[in-house]
Amino acid sequence: MRYEAWSIVNEEMDQAKRQSRDALFTIGNGYFGIRGFFEEDGRGISALGGIYSAGVFGKGSYAAWEGDSRELCNLPNALRARIKINGRPAEGPGENGLQESEEAGFFQKLDMKQGIYERRYPYTEEDAKAALAFRRFAVMDERWKNVIGQEIEIRAEEDGLELEVEAAIDGRVTNLNLESCEPLPVQPGGNHITRWETGEQSLHVMLDYKETEIHMCQKARAFAAGRELTGSLTNGEAEAGILFQCRLEKGESFRLEKMIRVTTGKESCPQAELPGYHEAEEAHREAWAKKWILSDIRVDQAENPDALKDQAVLRYNLFQLMAVCPEHTDRLSIGARGLSGEMYEGCVFWDNEIFKLPFFIYTNPGAAAGLLKFRYHTLDAARRHAGRNWFDGAMYPWQASEDGVEQTPYNVGAFYAVHIVSDIAHAVLEYGRVTGDREFYERYGMEILIETARFFASRCDWNGEEGVYEIRAVRGPNEYDVYVNNNAYTNLSAAENMMAAYRAVREREEEAEKRFSIRPGEAEQWKKIAEGLKLPYCKERDLYEEDDAYFKRRELDMKRAKPTGKRIIDSTLPYEALPLYQVTKQADVVLMMAMYPSRFTDRQKRTAYDFYEPRTAHDSSLSYTPHSILAAQIGRTDEAYRYFCRSACLDIEDTQLNTVSGLHFANFGGTWQAVYFGFAGVRFENGALMINPHLPVQWRGLEIAGSFGGVTARIEITGTRVTVKRIGAESRKTDGGGKERPGGQGTAGAGLNVWVEGKHAVLEEDQDMITVERGGESHVAAGCNL
Ligand code: BGC
Repeated sequence: MRYEAWSIVNEEMDQAKRQSRDALFTIGNGYFGIRGFFEEDGRGISALGGIYSAGVFGKGSYAAWEGDSRELCNLPNALRARIKINGRPAEGPGENGLQESEEAGFFQKLDMKQGIYERRYPYTEEDAKAALAFRRFAVMDERWKNVIGQEIEIRAEEDGLELEVEAAIDGRVTNLNLESCEPLPVQPGGNHITRWETGEQSLHVMLDYKETEIHMCQKARAFAAGRELTGSLTNGEAEAGILFQCRLEKGESFRLEKMIRVTTGKESCPQAELPGYHEAEEAHREAWAKKWILSDIRVDQAENPDALKDQAVLRYNLFQLMAVCPEHTDRLSIGARGLSGEMYEGCVFWDNEIFKLPFFIYTNPGAAAGLLKFRYHTLDAARRHAGRNWFDGAMYPWQASEDGVEQTPYNVGAFYAVHIVSDIAHAVLEYGRVTGDREFYERYGMEILIETARFFASRCDWNGEEGVYEIRAVRGPNEYDVYVNNNAYTNLSAAENMMAAYRAVREREEEAEKRFSIRPGEAEQWKKIAEGLKLPYCKERDLYEEDDAYFKRRELDMKRAKPTGKRIIDSTLPYEALPLYQVTKQADVVLMMAMYPSRFTDRQKRTAYDFYEPRTAHDSSLSYTPHSILAAQIGRTDEAYRYFCRSACLDIEDTQLNTVSGLHFANFGGTWQAVYFGFAGVRFENGALMINPHLPVQWRGLEIAGSFGGVTARIEITGTRVTVKRIGAESRKTDGGGKERPGGQGTAGAGLNVWVEGKHAVLEEDQDMITVERGGESHVAAGCNL
């Protein structure tokens, strides 16, 4: 891989890595995710494309805990191109043996600034030489979210080249059936298309789940040697296309530009409404430029040979987060693998709120509000789920698709993993703390807090002997412990949840009591449980225990259990054996401390890090960044940097060998957190911007931006000073993504309280910038009130 500040470039054509690279080169706009597949490839599973649309599912083949199972559906391949040069198909560099010259010229690039994917290679046969280039983008402009742009350019490198290009929407796709590890399976997966109908450059299909209808149409124009060509329609079975033919002399080019539009439901898809290619591309670039204003992070590169890599891989992580966010609706959220693959069936998990959401809260509050509203709209499903399991309030599902019904396969223990419930409440609180959006809180947030608190009140038990409340039979982030009593992470966030609900009710007694039918004494009971909830802790060692029994378990020989990068359960010990040992699948206590930094002393953080880090298998991509953040907080910036690199490069280097089945979106959010909360040491708490930087030696400086209580600002950090600059008057009124800020409070030009390493400064209303010299003791912000 080659790194440029704004792009990643691959020039190696390795067939074995083809499909994981397809995932890596995914582009999107929140409506679509499009893998980096080759449009002209006619062979095997590669020909099936890989286009997903948010919320479009096919029938799943497993037994879900509730309702019908479903999986993200691979849509008809609307980028399909059949290219013939002198009568011979050009099928992309492929398994039949790549010609040396093609291999030499192979080029794949993701331009993250503009959201454009590009691929090129030379075509070389004895009687025909040409240069092929492909570009595509999923239009980011909000007017055309359901539109994709495609461009194909073929330049003749020899005289007399007879060219045929057929641009089609190909409905003969199935799911990709990609398993989680290489080597790759080659068999296509389930076919979700039950019916199709072809029209003039359009395809209408019906899926096997909820009879979802999808309409796709295209408008293609082609030019050769300066004139526009006339195409002929080529509808085939389950396919709509158009064929262009021409003859090219050396140096002449053929260019195809095609726009595709997709609609779901009954709405048809008129071709006439498609924007022109250039118009759409320009709007797309502008939309991306706006997105980057608040989201970009600039790394000052020092004399570090890997510096450009750090910058590029970091931007890659941010790019993918922005490219997957369904900003066009508040009825959907982001699946674990986004729209880049089929693993986890496209479902949303807890890591959505804990790992991904903070990025949106700080850099695009409007998008964060949309993602949280998805949880609000699925409250009823969560209430039903709680009722069915004999609890009160709302029990959010471990794995949710579009309707919030529990999608986890039946009988695999999702019942225990209740931290998802308080994770959502935590995200509501975080959103409120950082944005100050009262309107959201009142219309949506309070209800989530109250219903989730009700759930915990009915889930907790009183332990009379110890005089504490407990959460028994529970699974924390360490999913290797099957189930335990009193997982510290879960108990702490459940306590935060119940206290917040108590305060919400107390703040507006009468109204809340009526609106939420609060029973007499109910809110006081939440407070009582929250204050009495056990947090396993060993006083002698000043060490928090992951759960009630962790210290009693056997030590695990990690070298023996995990001799390679493979997960323990895939290589040495069975899942059932793991509760015998002190082994943590992914950050648990470490995550708790990274999330509630001011709740713990530096000593407690150090002790916990030293104890749990060697016992952590990192058998999930969710493990690295909490370690990076905590290591940064305790001043171990080398460790923090090491973990940052592991998370930032996880998919780019395919370190877990499962990128093929989709990108790790929570890890992308974690990478952002490692930089923002860890290295920059930024948090917005109690109405003030806290900045406690811990830059790694590899970086000379760092520049981040965000929206802090409505004030949009850029923060520049160097070894000696921190500068906070307001972002231009225009973006002051917006969230950086072109939308009015949620809540509509006019605080954009307001003052901002800033604390840099314990020194107080104010960015006054009429000031554009302040600088604070660094130095003295590093200091952690106070004020995490539970
Ligand atoms: C993690 C889970 C997570 C899931 C989906 C797994 O690797 O262990 O905690 O919810 O991935 O992201």
